[in-house]
Amino acid sequence: MVEAFAVASGKGGTGKTTSTLALGMALAEEYDVTVIDADTGMANLLFHAGLDDADVTLHDLLIADRDVAVEDAVYDRFGMSVVPCGTSLTAFEAADPKRLRDVVAELAADTDVLLLDSPAALGSKSAVLPIVLADRIVVVLQPTVPSLSDGLKVQEYAHSYGTETAGVVFNRVRADEDVERIAEQAGRYFGGQTLASVPESDAVRAARRSGEPLLAHAPDDPAADAFREAAARLDVRD
Ligand code: ADP
Ligand code: MG
Repeated sequence: MVEAFAVASGKGGTGKTTSTLALGMALAEEYDVTVIDADTGMANLLFHAGLDDADVTLHDLLIADRDVAVEDAVYDRFGMSVVPCGTSLTAFEAADPKRLRDVVAELAADTDVLLLDSPAALGSKSAVLPIVLADRIVVVLQPTVPSLSDGLKVQEYAHSYGTETAGVVFNRVRADEDVERIAEQAGRYFGGQTLASVPESDAVRAARRSGEPLLAHAPDDPAADAFREAAARLDVRD
């Protein structure tokens, strides 16, 4: 394996799942990419990747007495290997989050780049496990000071576990926002490299509704260009 990235943020709804799949598709041009929905409590990557009907998911791998092999939860989608997670609260409660470490290790042996779509808050040990397991984090933020402050906390946490910062994706940037000022704020408050400023885009919402990642649904949209730029700036280590 080359590298594992956790796509993280302080709060929900910043665009982690959208970013995970967009970065994954961009990196899949060059690498074998595996995407895992490690947001096991609020999983929704399956809806973004047309996997609503997936029979076996990450939950089945995390529940001790379910006799399924890791490859049973891997789906070929959009040039990537995708491991969705189910949405059942009962399965979430039955899942043993500590098993994620072994699942990640097994998937890592067979891929170049692993992207972990991560839970939002730092609330519990299981919520931060993807950050702990990753080599680097991609922090997805909105271009506001509160969001930067959240990102700073995520970064501090990651660094305390030896996980480095790959950089920041500013998402949902409005046309009237000053991208230079945002990048300057990122440097001042956050210290992270700006990977891209992704515009607020109707195509992102339309992609979600269609069950396709943005880069499949609207590859020429400016938001898709921004995600490709972010993927190139990640500078994946061989
Ligand atoms: P998270 O995984 O961080 O909770 P999502 O990727 O699910 O966030 O995005 C939350 C919502 O915001 C989704 O409905 C998504 O379509 C929308 N969204 C994300 N990024 C953008 C964008 N750049 N422009 C417009 N809508 C966006
Ligand atoms: Mg999400």
